[in-house]
Amino acid sequence: MDNCIFCKIVNKEIPADFVLESEELVAFDDIHPKTPIHILVVTKAHVASIKELENPELAGEMVMAAKGIAHEKNLDGYKLLFNVGREGGQEIDHLHLHLMGGK
Ligand SMILES: [Zn+2]
Repeated sequence: MDNCIFCKIVNKEIPADFVLESEELVAFDDIHPKTPIHILVVTKAHVASIKELENPELAGEMVMAAKGIAHEKNLDGYKLLFNVGREGGQEIDHLHLHLMGGK
């Protein structure tokens, strides 16, 4: 997708420090963190949002990736959040899962 900031990050046209990279996903810090640890798990494929997602395995992989990162960060409790569409607070139309936690 042209002009999609997350596609550019996935394609390494915009630098970001990946805390995780797999065949399907990357994860990196949110540039506007709302909690001490605020990481975005992003699909490599451009899918606009959960509304457009057709592959349930991808959603499962995102959740399991976030769980693994939370474990690495020693987070005992945390929030996993999908914002869906503008009315749902989604700001970038490329599927991502927020992992939020820390004190
Ligand atoms: Zn994209």
